[in-house]
Amino acid sequence: MFLGHTAAALAGKRAAPRTSFGILLGAAIFLDLLWPVFLLLGWERVRIDPGNTAFTPLDFVSYPISHSLVAALGWSVLAGGVYYAVTRYGFGAWTVGCLVLSHWVLDWLTHRPDLPLWPGSAKVGLGMWHSLPLTLAVELLLFAVGLLIYLGTTRARDGVGRWVFWALMAFYLIVYAANTFGPPPPDVRTVAWMTLAMWLLPLWGWWADAHREVTPQIPQTAFGAVPRPAG
Ligand SMILES: [Zn+2]
Repeated sequence: MFLGHTAAALAGKRAAPRTSFGILLGAAIFLDLLWPVFLLLGWERVRIDPGNTAFTPLDFVSYPISHSLVAALGWSVLAGGVYYAVTRYGFGAWTVGCLVLSHWVLDWLTHRPDLPLWPGSAKVGLGMWHSLPLTLAVELLLFAVGLLIYLGTTRARDGVGRWVFWALMAFYLIVYAANTFGPPPPDVRTVAWMTLAMWLLPLWGWWADAHREVTPQIPQTAFGAVPRPAG
């Protein structure tokens, strides 16, 4: 769920305004950042199987270290814990942890039953990817909502904050369209290296976010947008 994970990261900015969008994005796609590493190491396996679902030609044969529920919980605690140790920002740490876990939940909605609860367990997945129109509608809607929340939380300080951010959003839509309507990837190594390139996305998000500021109405420490008392 390429756009759905991004939407969660965009919305996360409201929960933790002092955390860079780059970090939030890295958390939301953390499991997918680990996955190509484990693929290249030979620890996890994928197969190219056009028609596996209406949405993706990938058959996720085995990915318990990056994508089992138990592993996702572990990565979530680890990511939140490391973030807290470095920043001492509690809301940020909770948001980072929840975003890492949210990845599994969103994947569970979309994947066919290929997600293990723990390594070796039965596999689960509600299979939204079997319907292309439903997938597109849900992902685009989530993306739009996430974007509105982010834009209601931050504003550009300069041209970089405006255009680098919008370029990233446009890039997302273009890659999403290419993935959805383009030909299947030629082989598994190509899948792994192309997914590995996603490590650049949090850096891109961090760069844009560093040139944006939290809008004054948003309290920087509170969880969520509590309106300030008048006067
Ligand atoms: Zn995933």
